[in-house]
Amino acid sequence: MEPVIHQVWWRVTQRLRRTSLLPRRSHSGCAEHISVPASTRSRHIRPTPLVSRIYQPSHLRDVGQDSRVQGEMTCKSQRLMQQAGLIHSSNPGCYYYLPATVRSMEKLVRVIDQEMQGIGGQKLDMPSLCSADLWKVSERWELMGKELFRLKDRHGIDYCLGPTHEEAVTTLVAHQTTLSYRQLPLLLYQITRKFRDEPKPKFGLLRGREFYMKDMYSFDVSEEEAYKTYESVCQAYTRLFTRLGLRCVQVQADTGNIGGKLSHEFQLPADIGEDQLLVCGNCSFSANVETMSSDRTDCPQCKTGTLVESKGIEVGHTFYLGKKYSRAFKAVFTNAQNNPSIAEMGCYGLGVTRILAAAIEVMSTEEGIRWPGLLAPYQVCVLPPKKGSKMDKAAALAEDLVHTLEKALPQLRGEVVLDDRTQMTIGKRLKDASILGYPYVIVVGQGALEETPRFEVTCQEIGEKMFLSKDGLIDLLRKVETV
Ligand SMILES: [Zn+2]
Repeated sequence: MEPVIHQVWWRVTQRLRRTSLLPRRSHSGCAEHISVPASTRSRHIRPTPLVSRIYQPSHLRDVGQDSRVQGEMTCKSQRLMQQAGLIHSSNPGCYYYLPATVRSMEKLVRVIDQEMQGIGGQKLDMPSLCSADLWKVSERWELMGKELFRLKDRHGIDYCLGPTHEEAVTTLVAHQTTLSYRQLPLLLYQITRKFRDEPKPKFGLLRGREFYMKDMYSFDVSEEEAYKTYESVCQAYTRLFTRLGLRCVQVQADTGNIGGKLSHEFQLPADIGEDQLLVCGNCSFSANVETMSSDRTDCPQCKTGTLVESKGIEVGHTFYLGKKYSRAFKAVFTNAQNNPSIAEMGCYGLGVTRILAAAIEVMSTEEGIRWPGLLAPYQVCVLPPKKGSKMDKAAALAEDLVHTLEKALPQLRGEVVLDDRTQMTIGKRLKDASILGYPYVIVVGQGALEETPRFEVTCQEIGEKMFLSKDGLIDLLRKVETV
């Protein structure tokens, strides 16, 4: 290299190293990231998840006392999730989501992504910090009242922490001055944290002040097309809940402060549900009591059925908005006649953390969590025998089994945990496994040492216990769906 060029190169690299854009040199002259000892490189191969290493501190705090302090009402899902170390309460309506919960949430997000992208949804991410000016245009700055978390920046400018993003997304689309009818329908969605200053946060993740929501917004050329989009989103929601194994009813609902002309709620029937529903025993009709006079008992759809009251947890909501926001924010596209035209909009929410908690609420027993199969943080838990017991020799077989299962069934990679807490009896660990609700629990005990090894497997959903060979296990677990 020419001396002058070398000098320049030297100065540039030194500056980049100082600003951490390049790795610093160690004394041996090698860049530090290359001098990592070979032994730690094997960390890139995923190790078997060990129960002793999963950060899931059970009984972090006495649940009863905890909720008294914060004046929160508890329910089954909150109690079980706290007992199992899945969530930890921080301040009213706010929770730590511990690693197993995040695994489950990520699975739910993947299922939602599949369904939303299946109908043409495109994922984006909008700021949580929303300018008050936008909310004043829609007049919701006043309308939302105390529910909106408001704050000022250092210049004294007002913001809110977004509970929903009609204003933000419509402004974004309005900024695209070249939007053509050929690009519609446009379906934009995000899965982000939302904020709502609930007067009484309660029921754990069911009614928090900070939560995850999927919110999708649609832009269409006409009312007719917008109704088609609306229908396709409702169908996607129904498919989603079917895949999760959750019974969900789609009910007519009030449009509330979102506005618009047509609205449906997706409700999971549950005793602790806060919504009162009227469900026809004869046809598919169901409605939120808010939309009807509550003393009505005859079905307006089939005329013959009787309406029965039921309680539900709202997990999804759809709104046909018309031009309410697109007119206010000038979300305009060029129509087939080359004229500017205002888009027809819809918005569609899914409470992501709420779906998770509601699923646990409706599926679990009083003693243990039961997950929708797709959402279980881990699908299989393998229990080796207690250390020092006469079956101790089977311990190596348990580890072998984990590797065999992962090799034979690629969809279970990273989904099989080994409960290595072998200082505990099998009984005690089985009880823990039942609380945490792994869909399949395999005990490697006496049977595994026989000439033809047998494993005791419990399918927790149906509570059935079976003794299977290794091949039998593989056959059974082949059916397990993961996402
Ligand atoms: Zn009916």
